[in-house]
Amino acid sequence: MTLTSLAQASYVVAAVLFVLSLAGLSKQETARRGNLLGMAGMVLALAATVILALDQSERSVLVTALLIAMVFAIGAGFGIWRARTVEMTQMPELIAILHSFVGLAAVLVGFNSHLTEHGDAIHQVEVFLGVFIGAVTFTGSIVAFLKLSARMKSRPLTLPGRNLLNLGAVVASAGLLGWYIATDSLLPLGIMTAIALLLGFHLVAAIGGGDMPVVVSMLNSYSGWAAAAAGLMLSNDLLIVTGALVGSSGAILSYLMCKAMNRAFLSVILGGFGAEGGTASSAGEQGEHREVLAPEVAETLAGASSVIIVPGYGMAVAQAQHAVRELADLIEANGAEVSFAIHPVAGRMPGHMNVLLAEANVPYDKLVEMDDINQTIDTVDACIVIGANDVVNPAAREDEGSPIYGMPIIEADRARNVFVLKRSMASGFAGIPNPLFYRSNTRMVFGDAKETIEILVEEFKD
Ligand code: NDP
Repeated sequence: MTLTSLAQASYVVAAVLFVLSLAGLSKQETARRGNLLGMAGMVLALAATVILALDQSERSVLVTALLIAMVFAIGAGFGIWRARTVEMTQMPELIAILHSFVGLAAVLVGFNSHLTEHGDAIHQVEVFLGVFIGAVTFTGSIVAFLKLSARMKSRPLTLPGRNLLNLGAVVASAGLLGWYIATDSLLPLGIMTAIALLLGFHLVAAIGGGDMPVVVSMLNSYSGWAAAAAGLMLSNDLLIVTGALVGSSGAILSYLMCKAMNRAFLSVILGGFGAEGGTASSAGEQGEHREVLAPEVAETLAGASSVIIVPGYGMAVAQAQHAVRELADLIEANGAEVSFAIHPVAGRMPGHMNVLLAEANVPYDKLVEMDDINQTIDTVDACIVIGANDVVNPAAREDEGSPIYGMPIIEADRARNVFVLKRSMASGFAGIPNPLFYRSNTRMVFGDAKETIEILVEEFKD
């Protein structure tokens, strides 16, 4: 067996491991195994790629090995440093910036391919599409990174005739493709790259805060297609397979996110939802909110027979998950039934709350999905909203002018007593007021969520 065929055989095994990894990641119970399989697949894929590169290189083996080692050291060094230093709350923005790297890689591979190889029209189409998808992914992911890290306002950019601008960019790129095929010149490729970079920026800048989850998963999908396009240009079968896996699983995730948010996929990617801020009334028009301190909350919880906990992004910020678990155990020991209501877009990335609660060893069967919890929520004695805001905003159900109108929510407002743990009356990621805070059955408990929960734990122990 030659080295090349050994590497190709390893690629097949790696591809199977990636498929098994995705299957594992689809369930919480098997997610760790899924991750391990994916890591094993990636190690095998990298080893096979290095063997192929050494075997096929026109340079000496030593020079090639040195070049690979240098690139490895830079990439792995950066990756290890980021993985060790990143806070859990920064994960979504880290993922967004990683997507932008995939986009940039596809653009660079495309230009390299144009400059070094002169293939037929099919090769030209591969290069053109690879650069187009890569460029859109690159700037789109950078905007997503800026929005998720609050370096850029999550309010949507609403240019006049924005849909026409997007359509114009796509039509112009199609025209440039014709020019590129006819002349094989760098100029149409360069102009299209500039247009695609602007298109990526505009597509994501036009998305309102509440619709960002779909955009994040959509960019995930784009980065997969960009990688697949790079695989076609490099004639690397594993990259094509892996890119297609990421692209299609990202597309499925986008579809699920749209369903969870009751949005039409096309409308979201064309931008405009969450646009004008709707008619959502300002805080002043909502009336007075009522505030209580932790000991009063503890009293109600001590007398409750059913309690629902609704975690949101603020629980991640406060890193309150371990304290929350301790509190849930104490309430249960006191004889009440406790469950966790999980909204599909709570937090800043798909599955964010599941990851946090799993970290605190909350049993999976305590986690209840939004639709199921809503069926019984009006019989619940106490609902503790921990750092969640948009995902419990009744405006999504009641206010047709609201930017999040139609998005399914956890209907915490229907519980007998609602306690909202957050630091202030500030709005959530969508940037809109929340009428729940002013309801007669709601009490605000101000402070850092972890500190408040720790006081509740102490109260319960006494
Ligand atoms: P929100 O962003 O709506 O609200 C979080 C709340 O947490 C804030 O209002 C904040 O209020 C509070 N908070 C922050 N820090 C603390 C703290 N230390 N202690 C207590 N409270 C704190 O979060 P939700 O989870 O309700 O909703 C998620 C939002 O993010 C949705 O709009 C969703 O569309 C969007 N999104 C989701 C993604 C996903 O994939 N899940 C991806 C991108 C966006 P205060 O400052 O007063 O404390």
